This record gives sequence, C-alpha cells and structure tokens, in this order.
Amino acid sequence: MIEVSNVILPGSTIGILGGGQLGRMVSLAGRAMGYRFVTLDPMKDAPCGQVADAQIVAAYDDLEAARQLAEQSDVITYEFENVDARVTELLMKQSYVPQGSQLLYTTQHRLREKRAIEAAGVSVAPYLEIDSEDKLREGVLAFGTPCVLKTATGGYDGKGQWVIRTLDEVTDAYATLSQAKTELVLEKFIHFDKEISVIAARSPRGEVKAFPVAENVHVDNILHVSIVPARVSDELQRKAEQLAIRIAEGLGVIGLIAVEMFVTSSGEIYVNELAPRPHNSGHYTMEACHTSQFEQHVRAICNLPLGSTELLTPVVMVNLLGEHVEPLMQWSEQQNDLPTDVTAKIHLYGKSDAKVKRKMGHVNLLTNDVEKALKWIEDSAIWKNM
Ligand code: AMP
Repeated sequence: MIEVSNVILPGSTIGILGGGQLGRMVSLAGRAMGYRFVTLDPMKDAPCGQVADAQIVAAYDDLEAARQLAEQSDVITYEFENVDARVTELLMKQSYVPQGSQLLYTTQHRLREKRAIEAAGVSVAPYLEIDSEDKLREGVLAFGTPCVLKTATGGYDGKGQWVIRTLDEVTDAYATLSQAKTELVLEKFIHFDKEISVIAARSPRGEVKAFPVAENVHVDNILHVSIVPARVSDELQRKAEQLAIRIAEGLGVIGLIAVEMFVTSSGEIYVNELAPRPHNSGHYTMEACHTSQFEQHVRAICNLPLGSTELLTPVVMVNLLGEHVEPLMQWSEQQNDLPTDVTAKIHLYGKSDAKVKRKMGHVNLLTNDVEKALKWIEDSAIWKNM
C-alpha cells in the first residue's frame, strides 16, 4: 500500500478566506462529507457565512483576523485569487495551506501567469509587456488592430481592459490603464470561434482529473451560459482537457485550476486566463457530474482520492444576475413553460441585495437536448434583457 500523508479527514475544520458564493458551495459540499467550516469575510451574514459553522467578520487583509482563522482551521483554502501576500504568509506559518503561495503569486499577475502557462508547454495569445506609450504604439503596429491592452493585476469580468481599434486610441488607452499603477500587457486579438474552459483538480498525492469542457457565452463580459458538452469536436475536447491537466501538473496545482481558453475556427487553442479556485463555468458539475467541482476541491485539498468527473447528462448552466431575481421568483411558482425533457435546478446564493449585474445564483438545466434548453432561456421572461 502506498502511504499517503497529509490526509485531512472528515470532522476536521476547513477555513475559507472569502465568504462569497464559491465558498458557500464548497461548504455545502464539504459539510455533506462531514467537514466543518469557518469563513472570513467583511460582510456580515455572507453567502458562505450562512452555511458555515462560523464566520469571522473582518477585512481580507486583517492580519489579526487571519490569525484567528488559522487557529480555528486544520486546513485553509481561499475562494478568490487576490489574497494579500502578508495574509498568505501568515496563514502558511500558522496553519496548513496546501495550495501554497506560489500559485497565487502566479495567477495574481497576467504576465507571470502567461509565462507559467508557456513554461508548461501551452499556448497563449501573442503578448507584449508594455511600459511606455511608445512601446504600446510599436506593439499595436506589430499586432495590428484590434488588439487588447490589459492591466497585469486587478482586472476581472473585462475590467482593466481596453480593446484598441485604431492607432488614435493609443494615447488614451495608455493614459487610462497606466493609472492602475501596475504593469500592462498588450495581447493580439484572437478572432475566436468559441470560448471554452476546463477545470482540473490535483491533489498532494499527485492525482489529477479534468472535468468535461464547458462552452461559455459571455454577455457584457459576464458569463451568461455554459453548455456541456461543448459544441466542439471530441478531438478538441480531449486536447483541451489534456492542456488543463498539463497546466495543473506544470504549475504544481493543489486544489482546482480553472483554465479559460479561446478556440479558433481552425482548431487552435489559446489559454486566456487561469483561476486557482472553483469557477462559475464549473457550476454545471453540481448536478451534471458524478462529483461537483466543489466536492472535488475539498477532496483535493484534503488529499482524499479524487472523485469521478464523468458527465451524467448534458446540461446548460445559466447565471442569475440581480435583474433576473424578481422574474425568476415569479416564474418559480409555476415553472410550467419548461419543456418536459428539461429539468431546472435552481441555486441561489443567499444575497439580499439584488444589484444589477451582481451574481445572485444560477440554474442548471439538465436535458438531452441542449438546443431546447438554450431556446427556452432565449424566450424566457427571466433573461429577456440580455
Ligand atoms: P479576460 O478578463 O482576460 O477574461 O477577458 C474578458 C473577455 O474579453 C474574454 O472572455 C474575451 O471575450 C475577451 N478577450 C480578452 N482577451 C482577448 C483577446 N486577446 N482576444 C479576443 N478577445 C479577448
């Protein structure tokens, strides 16, 4: 028998830095497995705090609060990647953080992340580090327009980005994004056919598994739907899963890594971004796979054997933003327009303030006919303003 060390058994307490919906769904999955949870989040009654055994209400960079989290936890994870480096250092000294600090360091910064992906032998869109307006002009001339200028840190859901469409925009784009006081990176624009993602898990014992490829559609830079199986060839699906596994191994990932990719019409794949945590495009796994991404994350950080990632049914995951909650509530009472062979599983995150564009929940539509589910979403009053 191979001896496996660092196994965190059920009954132990998992600490989660961040109390949003990702932490909530990790806790719900982990509680079913017998773990206890404590979360740290500045917002009282946070989505994760509502389902955890305890919540420490404090800022994410509050070192005293981080010390308390360490004291109360047998193992610590996080639900966002922008963890303050001093907090990571403290948690690593005072508790057990199997995911380590290196993965956060890499994924917090677009240039470091791209270099790490390339070092793992995987392609990213051609890019240039930009440290002056002249360099930006040269880069735009070299890549042609459109091209995309991004801040190296702090951007999410399309924020901290400027799609440069003509040379005239160079001065404004540089002046605006350089205010962020971080490095800038210019990327060649990829005229992709589809955006896809793969979530892979790796455990300290070196086991690695990838979930099936999701095809993602964004509206206003926010994920709208994920379709699984992705409508790309089987060969491309296998290739994307292999790339995610190569990245998980190359970067020595522990826990989950979400790999977002662009696919061109000629079948090339470029990795756009990584996230070292559960990912919105993996919410479909909750009912559609043998193991959800959340359970897999718990298994991985606790060094348990990873669960099967096999797909049980085709699925469309559709996000519920603030503006969708009221029509969803009205629809929920009857649900009578749903095609007979589509089952809707509604997940809400316990957020009270339904602000426009805020992620409030999602629906997994389980069906053998994803086109029917997509048509239903398109016609539904819930998402009529998309
Ligand atoms: P990101 O914040 O890097 O995930 O980018 C947000 C969205 O902008 C992506 O989901 C793409 O739709 C688009 N985008 C970002 N980078 C590129 C690129 N190099 N080429 C084409 N589209 C891009």
